[in-house]
Amino acid sequence: MGSISVESLRKELAQVREESLTDALTGIANRKAFDQALEKSFQDNAEKNTSFCVVIADIDFFKKFNDTFGHLVGDKVLRFVAATIKSCVKGKDTAARFGGEEFVLILPDTGMEGAEIVAEQVRKAISKSILRDIKNNEEYGKITISLGIGQFKKGELTNDLLKRADEALYQAKENGRNRVVHFSGSDMGV
Ligand code: GH3
Ligand code: MG
Ligand code: MG
Repeated sequence: MGSISVESLRKELAQVREESLTDALTGIANRKAFDQALEKSFQDNAEKNTSFCVVIADIDFFKKFNDTFGHLVGDKVLRFVAATIKSCVKGKDTAARFGGEEFVLILPDTGMEGAEIVAEQVRKAISKSILRDIKNNEEYGKITISLGIGQFKKGELTNDLLKRADEALYQAKENGRNRVVHFSGSDMGV
């Protein structure tokens, strides 16, 4: 065993680690990577006066889309949505697949107004696209997403923040879908 095999082992380990943090279908960060990034955001902001936001995005009426065009086409849409969301963020931002047809963003050093701008960009980018089959040009129509935003509050738990973003997402669905809603309700109850 020379130094070369140690080096290749190191590379292999790095690759395994990378794979464990990547969503196999879409190629973007997975839930595990998101959980780690969120934990780090909480640590980074525990002492500071800066803020950050979390955005949860959910594809509208995706079950119907799958039922109409099949799961394989649905999978392609998930890849398209993932790539589009990723292309709308940069730098320290995290874009991840939260699970199923839900995606999530962490926007460091970003207040509610900034997060709304990013979320709206994502919403527009998805809704303006007309999806087609590359082979026969068959049109699948449009896909839209609903997005909910929660802003970090000092002293809370990760789940409190996710709950608020999820509540906002629920409101976006209730209000007609294909829209961005930020959490503005009370912390108590619900
Ligand atoms: P809503 O607008 O309320 O979100 O409606 P919806 O149909 O999107 O919501 P629902 O939760 O009823 O359905 C989610 C669907 O997402 C169910 C399933 O068909 C689809 N889905 C989840 N994960 C995958 C996946 O990995 N591949 C494909 N093709 N579809 C998936
Ligand atoms: Mg869903
Ligand atoms: Mg959905």
